[in-house]
Amino acid sequence: MNCHACGAALTSTARFCHKCGAQVGGGQASGWRAGLPWGVAGAALGALLTVVALRFAGSGERGAGPVDATGGTAPRSLLPVNAPDISQMSPEERATRLYNRVMMLHTQGKPDSAEFFLPMALQAYAMLPALDVDARYHIGVLDLTGGNPAAALAQADTIRRTVPTHLFAFMLRARALELERDSAGARRAYRDFLTHEAAERTRQRPEYSEHAENLDAFHGQATAATAGKATRGS
Ligand SMILES: [Zn+2]
Ligand SMILES: [Zn+2]
Repeated sequence: MNCHACGAALTSTARFCHKCGAQVGGGQASGWRAGLPWGVAGAALGALLTVVALRFAGSGERGAGPVDATGGTAPRSLLPVNAPDISQMSPEERATRLYNRVMMLHTQGKPDSAEFFLPMALQAYAMLPALDVDARYHIGVLDLTGGNPAAALAQADTIRRTVPTHLFAFMLRARALELERDSAGARRAYRDFLTHEAAERTRQRPEYSEHAENLDAFHGQATAATAGKATRGS
């Protein structure tokens, strides 16, 4: 069994991917989507939510405690040691932080917390003035984690328009089509990945080294998926 989001090999009893934190097995397509206000929140609401989320994230989940919603009256000694300095973070860093937060919460088996942060992470990305390929991959993985394959496919298409043979596009596409139970389409994406893999990885794109484990895991799954097809001949 492999993770539907990142492709990591999972044990048969795993409820969450240890790599990216995606939920495993049934329910990932329906459970999350129902409660998520996709595209509903406006930019202003999104900004507010992001600030709240970052304060919450910075609190390290030690409870409501001393996070000062009143604007800095809490004594510094009461604040968590690892509280991030939000004012020093770029919007890109905030988005990445929320993305990592969602993935980590899943790994830790805290789906409720992850579900709470997932729309905020997507909002943080939606507010960025420009999205590079890596940001679009993160958005796509968040979409897949939230059980929204159509949104992940849209990110894959945009990546492909920017860099026609970028491996992240094939990865998102294969996972999304699997979620949509389009196994023929998924197999095509797996094949495309393998076709372009060697040439792409020699390009040494920074996002490839950042996600090297995801790429290696996906390679294994793509090989298995395409080999199975050849031997069964179905
Ligand atoms: Zn995963
Ligand atoms: Zn990345």
